[in-house]
Amino acid sequence: MFDDRYTLAYRLYPYARHADQDKSAPVRHPVVVMGGGPVGVATALDLGAQGIPCVVLDDHEGVGMGSRAICFAKRSLEIADRYGAGKPMVEKGVVWNLGKVFHKDDKVFEFNLLPEEGHEFPAFINLQQPYFESFMIERLFEMQKDGAPVEIRGKNRVDSVTVKEDHVVLEVMTPDGPYTLEADWLIGCDGANSPLRTMLGHEFTGKVFKDSFLIADIKMINESFPTERWFWFEPSHGSGASTLLHKQPDDVWRVDFQIGWDVDRKEEMKEENIRRRLDAFLGEGVDYEMVWSSIYTFQCKRMERFRHGPVIFAGDAAHQVSPFGARGANSGMQDIDNLGWKLGLVINGQAPESLLDSYNIERVHGADENILNSTRATDFITPKSETSHIFRNAVLELSEHYEFARPLVNSGRLSLPCVYDGSPLNSADGLPHGPALSLIHI
Ligand SMILES: Cc1cc2nc3c(=O)[nH]c(=O)nc-3n(C[C@H](O)[C@H](O)[C@H](O)COP(=O)(O)OP(=O)(O)OC[C@H]3O[C@@H](n4cnc5c(N)ncnc54)[C@H](O)[C@@H]3O)c2cc1C
Repeated sequence: MFDDRYTLAYRLYPYARHADQDKSAPVRHPVVVMGGGPVGVATALDLGAQGIPCVVLDDHEGVGMGSRAICFAKRSLEIADRYGAGKPMVEKGVVWNLGKVFHKDDKVFEFNLLPEEGHEFPAFINLQQPYFESFMIERLFEMQKDGAPVEIRGKNRVDSVTVKEDHVVLEVMTPDGPYTLEADWLIGCDGANSPLRTMLGHEFTGKVFKDSFLIADIKMINESFPTERWFWFEPSHGSGASTLLHKQPDDVWRVDFQIGWDVDRKEEMKEENIRRRLDAFLGEGVDYEMVWSSIYTFQCKRMERFRHGPVIFAGDAAHQVSPFGARGANSGMQDIDNLGWKLGLVINGQAPESLLDSYNIERVHGADENILNSTRATDFITPKSETSHIFRNAVLELSEHYEFARPLVNSGRLSLPCVYDGSPLNSADGLPHGPALSLIHI
């Protein structure tokens, strides 16, 4: 059903004993990345492209199965392309331009993300996260073959981290037992539940949303839909308070039902109950195969600071958003695009460490912008009071006839650049824009 890449992705980097495990004293590396998700692997690609050694430690042996993220934005594709992994993503991905918004059974409006002139990549592609990750890991292997000092170690679980003044000490568990490593810099890319954050006692604060969503990725057998994104508010099929339908590669469709907070998850996850919702939504006689399903809830949270001395957090470990707006993996890619060159200059002695503080300031700002937009989208989809509900439906009614109301439905375009107004890298007013020279010694 899927191409081989998807099936093999589960064990892309099987455990292999490393020479570091047999050394009598811990080996020191310039950069260790904790976590081999999309953000951790992007870190290795960014540093590898600069010739900077980087070891990624992951507690699995390949990419996570099941399509968590499916929407990847133009900016992520541009960044992946800089690493040499963007083109295969676009080739495999589904390019979509047309989005349709429905309220009950009526189409309220549609929007078109037509390719912008002069842009190499489309506004969005839909691609299962395991594919997105495996294209980057394959690129890491290619870089390795070409001599870049990067590696990923499977089944290397980081169990403890001690932060010293200018380095960190990591205890790593493997199938052959534990070993110790040291790193000048540790990049924490270990996901939303970040064990690293917990080990170091950092808080992760924000808002938990009281709603659940049931995802069913299905393969259509005798039916198809256009390559468009369709979103229903209060659909009359009654399978959820909202429903999203999106096409993915390999003829797989994502259906995402909003099913409420007080649900019996075990009961909802039974195949017959998922099929009941799907049948009500798709109509009689539509044949499909179920590929993957899950129930998710979500939160919008971030760490107060992303840099703590030699430990730097990125991706979901640093900030988490709701999936609405597709700002999770996409914003993690932007973290690394921001961090990579700065860390490179610092490691090569071409910039002082303080340059890394601008990563913290800029990406905390980026995270706040993402949290704001994703919270707005979520509040719109799941109104929290009867009054909000009335206003929400009024906006939907207005947007059917009046252009001005439509941005209130589609609350933020991900591909718009983040404006780093308060960055220490900005020059003083009146001077040409660009990095303040005192910060960068090139
Ligand atoms: C339903 C759903 C839909 C989504 N849709 C989108 C979307 O369309 N677009 C989008 O951009 N984002 C989307 N996201 C969010 C996206 O999946 C995440 O933002 C993304 O996976 C974060 O990447 P990461 O590398 O930061 O963390 P993760 O992908 O969580 O990776 C963390 C890695 O760290 C490893 N790890 C953890 N602990 C340790 C340890 N102790 N030692 C070693 N390794 C460790 C884990 O095994 C994992 O490999 C969605 C999420 C969900 C749940």
